[in-house]
Amino acid sequence: KASMALSRFEYVKQFETDDRCLPNCWIVVRIDGKGFHRFSDQHNFLKPNDDRSLHLMNCAAKQVMTEFKDIVLAYGQSDEYSFVFKINTSTYNRRSSKLMTNICSLFASTFVFNWQKYFHDVKLKYPPAFDGRVVLYPSNQNLLDYLSWRQADCHINNMYNTVFWALVQQGKLTPQAAQERLKGTLAADKNEILFQDYAINYNDLPEFYRKGTTLIREKKEEQITHKIPQQDGTFKEKAELKIKSELVELHTDIIGSSFWNNHPEILT
Ligand code: ATP
Ligand code: ATP
Ligand code: MG
Ligand code: MG
Ligand code: MG
Ligand code: MG
Ligand code: MG
Repeated sequence: KASMALSRFEYVKQFETDDRCLPNCWIVVRIDGKGFHRFSDQHNFLKPNDDRSLHLMNCAAKQVMTEFKDIVLAYGQSDEYSFVFKINTSTYNRRSSKLMTNICSLFASTFVFNWQKYFHDVKLKYPPAFDGRVVLYPSNQNLLDYLSWRQADCHINNMYNTVFWALVQQGKLTPQAAQERLKGTLAADKNEILFQDYAINYNDLPEFYRKGTTLIREKKEEQITHKIPQQDGTFKEKAELKIKSELVELHTDIIGSSFWNNHPEILT
């Protein structure tokens, strides 16, 4: 009988280990494009920042947040995105690999699914992949420091890339020469090169590039009117106030306290 065969083999199930995330911790899932240095090259990304890819990344992240309602915030820059689950989420019973793989594959498939919408006639040459990891943060401060770390990374890379590509595209340096020129330079030196040689004021560049993208949910009140049928065949209108949650895309500082003071609900 099939059921007997099933029970004879079923013990193998016990080889699966429990990978539930510790309670009372923020669960962060971070995905990152595999080999996007090459991928961006092969698909002629504009340097230092290709808007099409950044918008496509944001589109995929919104799809993930639409699917997983317990994600309270997402932060993205370059080829990476971090998703923060509310501290007491019970999504997939907090099973680490379920959370990581479902987010990672939904992100990747949405990226491919919407490729044409953002890249138009640029043909997708090969299927991109994303890696994923789960990190637990036991305190609010740890979580804030994690997000600050990612935004600081965005800032440092973006400043480097902005000067590097100015030297290559406008200064006609070879990539090697540009790399050599930037060796050992500090932020102030890079600002100075940009300003003196290329009349670029780094702080005037779009926040979209300098700050990355933060996605949060904002509660919006919405007026809905119901038409209620009356005995005499007419309708009476009844207004109802509904609280709707909407995804909001921000390009702002999340390192300082002002963002968190303005959105206290995220950490509760
Ligand atoms: P790994 O597989 O280890 O992540 P990687 O090549 O993806 O390798 P990353 O450190 O993730 O390395 O860096 C991503 C690279 O992708 C950047 O250095 C940049 O060259 C490129 N890239 C990603 N997004 C963009 C974009 N929007 N515009 C231009 N280039 C981009
Ligand atoms: P979960 O997200 O928990 O995996 P699920 O709906 O994917 O939920 P599974 O136990 O994985 O549940 O079962 C997959 C289901 O998908 C099958 O029960 C069947 O209905 C359907 N399915 C998958 N592959 C095929 C196929 N080749 N032909 C017909 N139906 C299929
Ligand atoms: Mg990497
Ligand atoms: Mg990468
Ligand atoms: Mg990366
Ligand atoms: Mg299954
Ligand atoms: Mg299934």
